[in-house]
Amino acid sequence: MNQTLQENIREVRRRIRDAAERAGRDESEITLIGVTKTQPVEVINAAIDAGIDHIGESRIQEARERLPDVKEGPVRHLIGHLQRNKVKYAVKLFDMIQSVDTILLAEELNARCAKLNRQMPILIEVNTSGEDAKMGCQPKEALTLMKAIDRLPNLSTRGFMSIAVYSEDMERVRPCFKLLREIYEDASTHELQHGTLSVLSMGMSSDFETAIEEGSTMVRVGTAIFGRRIV
Ligand SMILES: *Cc1c(COP(=O)(O)O)cnc(C)c1O
Repeated sequence: MNQTLQENIREVRRRIRDAAERAGRDESEITLIGVTKTQPVEVINAAIDAGIDHIGESRIQEARERLPDVKEGPVRHLIGHLQRNKVKYAVKLFDMIQSVDTILLAEELNARCAKLNRQMPILIEVNTSGEDAKMGCQPKEALTLMKAIDRLPNLSTRGFMSIAVYSEDMERVRPCFKLLREIYEDASTHELQHGTLSVLSMGMSSDFETAIEEGSTMVRVGTAIFGRRIV
């Protein structure tokens, strides 16, 4: 039944390895997140059996319904927009929150994590495409936001996340990745109290090879593993 899934995962890993090689990088620098949004629990568990050890979900409601039945083991990432009134659920469901884009959201996360006596690894989401519909802070606010978040002891900043402009033309997509990389490098010159930068989460099914060429350390791949989403 899940031969296709296994083949898809193998193929994505091969493409990651080839892209890394072309860029003179080691494939071990790049983490593959299987984006499991909209997939049924059986499919998610089959992907885990096939070696997927990081999963990404984008909606809290969906995650609350499915994650309790998903096998233990994989690192669970929230990659979609988080509303402040859903933070109380998010801190119990996820190991990393990739979509922190305002200080108000960060403060709510910090407060909820303090109650649970835990520290949450987070990424700062940056809108690198300039499209209004995309979430994320403005590129020029990213450093200020990082410094403000660093004052919150129950959050640990690990890096940055972005969704590039959607286009088949990689020369339109690439500048988004370059921009996030520049922000990351700039941010790396600042010492953090409650975190260490190591993650550059960029690249999806349509553009992960380009993202790897531009320095991505974490690619979020849904369609290329699971096929086209119906919902
Ligand atoms: C859905 C989603 C992905 C995966 O998209 P695919 O094109 O299916 O690989 C990656 N990142 C985020 C934030 C998403 O919402």
